[in-house]
Amino acid sequence: MDRRTFLTRSAAVAGGVALSRASACARATNPATKTPLTNWAGNLRYSTGNVHYPTSVEQVQQVVKNCDKLRALGTRHSFNTIADSTRNQVSLRGLNKVVSLDRRSNTVTVEAGIKYGELCGYLHENGYALHNLASLPHISIAGAVATATHGSGVKNGNLATQVAAIEFVDAAGEVIYLSRHNDGEQFQGAVVGLGALGVVTKLTLDLLPTFDMKQVVYLDMPMQELARDFDAIMSSGYSVSLFTNWKNKSINEVWIKSRVGPTAAPAPEFHGARAATRNMHPVAEQSAEPCTEQMGVPGPWYERLPHFKMGFTPSTGAELQAEYFVPLEHAYEAMMAIETLHDQMTPHLFISEIRTVAADELWMSPCYHRTCVTFHTTWKPEPDAVSRLLPLVEEQLFPFGAVPHWAKLFTMSPAVLEARYARIADFRRLVNQYDPAGKFRNEFLSRNIYG
Ligand SMILES: Cc1cc2nc3c(=O)[nH]c(=O)nc-3n(C[C@H](O)[C@H](O)[C@H](O)COP(=O)(O)OP(=O)(O)OC[C@H]3O[C@@H](n4cnc5c(N)ncnc54)[C@H](O)[C@@H]3O)c2cc1C
Repeated sequence: MDRRTFLTRSAAVAGGVALSRASACARATNPATKTPLTNWAGNLRYSTGNVHYPTSVEQVQQVVKNCDKLRALGTRHSFNTIADSTRNQVSLRGLNKVVSLDRRSNTVTVEAGIKYGELCGYLHENGYALHNLASLPHISIAGAVATATHGSGVKNGNLATQVAAIEFVDAAGEVIYLSRHNDGEQFQGAVVGLGALGVVTKLTLDLLPTFDMKQVVYLDMPMQELARDFDAIMSSGYSVSLFTNWKNKSINEVWIKSRVGPTAAPAPEFHGARAATRNMHPVAEQSAEPCTEQMGVPGPWYERLPHFKMGFTPSTGAELQAEYFVPLEHAYEAMMAIETLHDQMTPHLFISEIRTVAADELWMSPCYHRTCVTFHTTWKPEPDAVSRLLPLVEEQLFPFGAVPHWAKLFTMSPAVLEARYARIADFRRLVNQYDPAGKFRNEFLSRNIYG
């Protein structure tokens, strides 16, 4: 499906159930009479057209109380069925404001539906920054946090590690507040919540003083360079990404994002790669217009940390994504294990991205107690080829303890997830406390968490 078709289709499905009808939630108007929304990539049409759009926490409570089954929805950027529901979805797009900026604790409290692209400029104007961002600013903060969305950086935790406190409406319609400071374990279990505990309504995020960054891109680095010192290459900037289409044992592009300091001009070479002489798109053949400024030009953190600019289509558009997390100590071996599939993968790929994410304390984070390297694949919209190839990639990564990104495509069995998430049983107990009857449980959770 091309981008134009996708947009037309998306426009045609805009709309949903007005909140004034929330009381009718459980006995809802026949879902089949409304066209369900699709996800961003258009590879998934949700299983219900019943979408609620509250504009206050009280209205969220009302929706939750009136629905016996419900899933929260962010900006719909997930590729799998994690946000799906056969009965009701509640979109937080109307709850997208900054609630307060606390200059004593250096935190900001926001409504859960706000996008990074709506928050970052405000933070910068007020002298603040977030420690990291994903490749795109278009996503909702609640959706990113719920799925442990990440950027890159050996010392940078995923975006959920920015959360200092969380407010959500549980299955009984009660407003629950948990903070890192006061609620220790419960908090660490609730943050990467996969939408299972309730509808998140507010998040408090840790802030840094604002800073400037620059990014420099290098072309054609032999993979062999990574054999010597993977960590050193991934630590050569604040945030480093490697892009490869797995051809010729080469990293096509190395993106190095650094904090601006009193350093000299970028070196013309980096581990056998040459500095790009123009802005690049991760897929070299595509226009760099949607991409953030490169060539060492300084700019604020939020215009350098993401690869893509707000106001443009990020990545490619019609695409499928998958990603796996592997402990950093296995990085090179795991990369070369995927490389053995290059003949099969490359024809179906737009690009792969390799990043790093620091260890954290969040129970359902793929980086719980382990710093990881991540292997991401942006596939052409060819579902049959992708379904055939993902098990092969997973088989190659299995010996290294890989787990998948919660929001992207995977075929790994629930038994593997059970074995590799040390706190999954604790997470189930926590979910049971806030949602004993499974109001927020959908087919994705039933299979992958309760399977
Ligand atoms: C082009 C593109 C680039 C991407 N780049 C990256 C990247 O750089 N790094 C990365 O890690 N991921 C990346 N992703 C994946 C993306 O970050 C995740 O899909 C993320 O979950 C998107 O947030 P969302 O608001 O769209 O969530 P949705 O897809 O709408 O929902 C995801 C999950 O969050 C839950 N959720 C959403 N809002 C709430 C709420 N208020 N309360 C409770 N639960 C809620 C949903 O129930 C669901 O389980 C990318 C995706 C795309 C399409």
